[in-house]
Amino acid sequence: MAEFERFKLVIGGKPVDATSGATFRSVNPYTGQAWAELADAAPVDVDAAVAAARSALTGEWGGTTGFARARLMRRAAEVIAGNAERLARLEVSDSGKLYREMIGQMAGLSSWFHYYAGLADKVEGRQIPSPNPDYLVYTRKEPIGVVAAITPWNSPLLLLTWKLAPALAAGCTVVVKPSEHAPASSVAFAELFDQAGFPPGVVNVVTSQDPQVGAALAGHPGVDKVAFTGSTATGRRVAHAAADNLNPVTLELGGKSPQIVFADADLAAAANGVVAGVFAATGQTCMAGSRLVVHESVHDELVRLVADRAATIALGDPMDPGTEMGPVANAPQYAKVMDYLKTAQEEGATLAYGGAADAGLGGLFVKPTVLTGVGPESTVVREEVFGPVLSTLTFHDEDEAVELANDTAFGLAGAVWTKDVHRAHRVAARVRAGTVWINAYRVVAPSVPFGGYGQSGIGRENGVDAIEAYTQTKSVWVELTGGTRDPFTLG
Ligand code: NAD
Repeated sequence: MAEFERFKLVIGGKPVDATSGATFRSVNPYTGQAWAELADAAPVDVDAAVAAARSALTGEWGGTTGFARARLMRRAAEVIAGNAERLARLEVSDSGKLYREMIGQMAGLSSWFHYYAGLADKVEGRQIPSPNPDYLVYTRKEPIGVVAAITPWNSPLLLLTWKLAPALAAGCTVVVKPSEHAPASSVAFAELFDQAGFPPGVVNVVTSQDPQVGAALAGHPGVDKVAFTGSTATGRRVAHAAADNLNPVTLELGGKSPQIVFADADLAAAANGVVAGVFAATGQTCMAGSRLVVHESVHDELVRLVADRAATIALGDPMDPGTEMGPVANAPQYAKVMDYLKTAQEEGATLAYGGAADAGLGGLFVKPTVLTGVGPESTVVREEVFGPVLSTLTFHDEDEAVELANDTAFGLAGAVWTKDVHRAHRVAARVRAGTVWINAYRVVAPSVPFGGYGQSGIGRENGVDAIEAYTQTKSVWVELTGGTRDPFTLG
C-alpha cells in the first residue's frame, strides 16, 4: 500500500483527528497519485476550531501588546523562511505549481510577516477634540475578533498570508479553511506558528473535502469577520452567509484582466509580459492577463511573438527546474479548461497556438493557447477560464482600447504597454481595476494594496490599510469634572 504523508486538523495548538475519524486524500496532479491523507472535518470540528480561536482571543493572546505580537511575527517569519523548501514541496505536490516559482514564493512569505510585524506596534487610536470641554475623548483600535480565512487551491499559502499577517498584527485569531484540492500546506504552515511561540488557538486549520465545511465556517455565529479568496460564485455565497451574521467580509475573487498594448510599445517586452500574465502558473492565477487588447497595426506581429514563445514553453514535471508550465491543478479544473477550448472553437475562434491537451505528457497538461478571431461577446472573452488561454481583441484608438478593457464584469488587474508616458498614466487611470501595471505584469508586494473592482471583490489586501479590515474602533468618553448633569437631555 502506498505511503501517504498525513495531516491532521490544527485546533487549539494541537494536531487532532476529525471528530468522525474520517480522512480524505489529496492527489498530485502531475503523477495522478494520491500522496497525502488529511482529516476530513465536519461542521462539529468547525465549532471546535472557532471555540479554540475564541478562547485564545479572551485568553493569553488577547492580553498581548502589539510589541509582543511583532516579536512573535518576526520569529514566525524566520521559522517560515527556514521551512520554505518543505512548504514549497507540499504546494507542488498538492497543486502542480512549479517548484521554481514556489520556493521563491514560500521564502517571500516572510516579508509579509516582517512588514505587518512592523505595523503591529503602531495600531493607534486617536485623541479626538470634543465640542464639550468637560470630556476627554479617545479611540481604541481593537482586534475585530475571530477571523474565518477561506482560501482557494492556487497559491494557498500566499493568499492565506495576505489575511493572516494583518489579522495577527491586529491581534485577531484565525480559523483557516483551505481548499479541498490543496489542503496540506496550510496544516504544515499552522504548525510553524506553534514553533514560533504563538499561544495555542491563535491559528487553527480545518481541512475537509466537503465544501459545506467552508459554508459552515463562513456563516458561523462565533466568527467576527470573513476573509475569502476564491471564485466569484462562491464569494457571493460567502457574502450572504457573512451578512446573516452582520459580519464584514473581504472578498478576493476572479478576474478577466486586460493587457492593453499600444502600437508604440516595446513588443518583445510586451510579448514577454503577456506570457508572464497568462502562461505563468499555467494561467491559474486570479490576476491572469487573459485578454490581450492590442492595436490593430501590431496585432499580427505581437500574436506571432507570443505564439512563438508559447511553442517553446517547456511543459513537464513541476519539480524539474527546467519546466516552465506544470499541469492544470486538478481534474475538475482540467475539464473546465478543455470545455472552454471546445466552446471557443465552436464559436469560431482561430488557434494561433495550442488549443488542446498535451497528450504526450499524460495527465492534466493543456498546451499554452493563443486565440484570435474572438469578439467581445465570445464566452472565452467574458468568462474566467483559470487556465493557460489567451484571447486577443484589436482596437483602433485609445478610447476603443479603454472601452474593450473595461467591457467586463470583473476588475481585478490590467496592464498598459506603451512608451508614451502621458498615455500610460492616462489609460491607467481609466482602466477599472484594482491594480494596473505599466510595462509590467504580475508583480505584488506586502506594501501594495491588492483587490478588485466590480465582481472581482470587496476590500483590499496588503498595504498599511489592510490592517483596518481586522480592527474595529471603540470611542471612549471620559467625564472630566466629576459633576452631574441633566439626565433627560442628550449630552
Ligand atoms: P472556490 O470558490 O471553488 O473555492 C474557494 C474556497 O471556498 C475553497 O476553500 C472551498 O472549499 C470554499 N468553499 C466552497 N464552497 C463554499 C461555500 N459555500 N462557503 C464557503 N466556502 C466555500 O475557488 P477555487 O476554485 O478554489 O479557486 C479559484 C478561484 O479563485 C478563481 O475564480 C480565482 O480567480 C479565484 N482567486 C482569486 C484571487 C484574488 O486574489 N482575487 C486569488 C486566487 C484565486
